Amino acid sequence: RLDAVIRAFRNVEAGDLLRRMEASGNDEFTDVARAFNGLMDRVADLTASALRSDLMVTWAQRELRLKEEVLAKSRQLADLNDQLVQRVRVASTLLEVADAVSAGLDLDETLPVVGASLTRAMGLVDFRVLLAAGDGGGLVLRHAQGLLSGPSAVGVDGPLAACAASGETLSVPDLKADAAVAALYAGGASGALVAVPFAAHAGVDGVLVLVRPTATAFGDADIDFLKLVGRYVGLASANGRLYQETLTLANQDQLTGLFNRRRFMALYQQAWDRASREREDLSVLMVDIDWFKKFNDVYGHLVGDDVLRRIAGAIAGQARPRDVVGRFGGEEFILVAPGTPRDLACLLGERIRTAVEEARFAAPDGANLPIRLTVSVGVASRQPGMAGPDDLVREADRCLYLAKSRGRNQVHPSVRGGTGATPPWSGGEAGDD
Ligand code: GH3
Ligand code: MG
Ligand code: MG
Repeated sequence: RLDAVIRAFRNVEAGDLLRRMEASGNDEFTDVARAFNGLMDRVADLTASALRSDLMVTWAQRELRLKEEVLAKSRQLADLNDQLVQRVRVASTLLEVADAVSAGLDLDETLPVVGASLTRAMGLVDFRVLLAAGDGGGLVLRHAQGLLSGPSAVGVDGPLAACAASGETLSVPDLKADAAVAALYAGGASGALVAVPFAAHAGVDGVLVLVRPTATAFGDADIDFLKLVGRYVGLASANGRLYQETLTLANQDQLTGLFNRRRFMALYQQAWDRASREREDLSVLMVDIDWFKKFNDVYGHLVGDDVLRRIAGAIAGQARPRDVVGRFGGEEFILVAPGTPRDLACLLGERIRTAVEEARFAAPDGANLPIRLTVSVGVASRQPGMAGPDDLVREADRCLYLAKSRGRNQVHPSVRGGTGATPPWSGGEAGDD
C-alpha cells in the first residue's frame, strides 16, 4: 500500500494531475489517500484557473493586435481616400479644361473658364496667360484673373521670357527668396509661382503663370498636372488662331481686304436696324470705277487687281469710324454711313471721288501709269417709305447709274432725303429717269 502511495506521487511528478488514489478503507493509508486526492483536486483547480487566465491574456493580446491592424488599415484607407479625392479633383479639373477647350473657339472665351477651374481646384491667387508677341520677342498678356497686379507684358529678358524661350517649366517655391520673379508683381508677391510654357504647333506660343499664397505649395504632381493643362491651352490657342483665320477668310474680300458682300450685308442690316430703332439717318454710297474694262484690256488684269486694291484703300481711307465699307462686286464698292444725312454723305462721296482722281497708279516695274482713274458715286439715304435695306441699296445703285449716264467721275445724290439745296457737284435731279 505504501508502493501505491509512491506510484501516485510519481504519476503526479510525471504530469498526470487527474489520477486519484483508492480511498475506501478506514485506516491511516486511507487518510493519506484522501488527503492526496484532496490535494490533487486543489492542484487541478489552480492549474485550470491558471490556464484560463493565460488564455485570457492571449486573447486580450490578440484583440489588441487586431485593433492596431484595423487602425493601421483605416489610416491606409483614409490616405487612399485622400489620394482618390485628389485624383478625382485633378481629373474633373482637367475635364473642365478639356471641355472649355473643345467647346470654345475663341481664346477670350476659353481662358476665363480654364482660369476659373484652376483657381477653384488649386486655390490660386493669380492666374494669367501671356502669349508670344509674334514680332520676334516678348510676351503680351492675354488673360488675367486673381488678386495680384502682375505682369501685362514682358520683354525678351527676364524669367518669364526665359521660360518661354527654353520651353522649360519654371517653379519658384518661395517668391520671397527670388527677387527677380517676385518683382514681376507690383509691390512684390509671396507664396509659390509656377510658369508653364505651352505650344500650339512648333515653338512656344505662350506661358501660363500661376501663384498660390503659401510657399512650396506646388508639388511635383501639381506641376505634372499643370503641364497637361498647358497642352490643352496650347490646343485652345491653336483653335483660336484657326478660328480667327477662318472668320477673316469668311468675312473678308481676299483681293482688297474690305468686307466681302456677305459680311457687308450682315453689318448693313445691323446698321439699318439700329437706324430704325434710334430714328437716325443712314446713307449708302455705291462706288464704281469708270471704264475699268478698258483699263484691264490695256494694262492687263494683274495691274487691274493692283489698282482695285489701291482704290479700295482710297475709299476706306475716307471712311469715318462708324462707316462700313465692302466690296460689292467686281469693281464696285459700297459704303454705309450711319448717322449721316444725304448731303453729308454726298460730301463723303465727293471726298472719295477726289481721292481716287488724285491717286497715281504704278505699273509692275514701278513707273507711274500715264493714266488717271475715276469713280462714279451714287448716294441715297434711308426714307420712311422704304420697306427694307435692299430698297436703299437699289436707290443708291440707281443714282450710280445716273452718275454714269451723266458722264462719270461724279457723285449723284438721290432726289429723296436732301435739304432742297442743289449740291455743287450735281446738276440736280431734273431729267433723271
Ligand atoms: P463703267 O464706267 O460703265 O463702269 O465701265 P466699266 O468698264 O467699268 O464697266 P463694266 O461693268 O462693263 O466692266 C467692269 C469690269 O471690271 C469688267 C472686269 O474686267 C473688271 N473687273 C471686275 N472685277 C475685277 C477684278 O477682280 N480684277 C480686275 N483686274 N478686273 C475686274
Ligand atoms: Mg465700272
Ligand atoms: Mg461695275
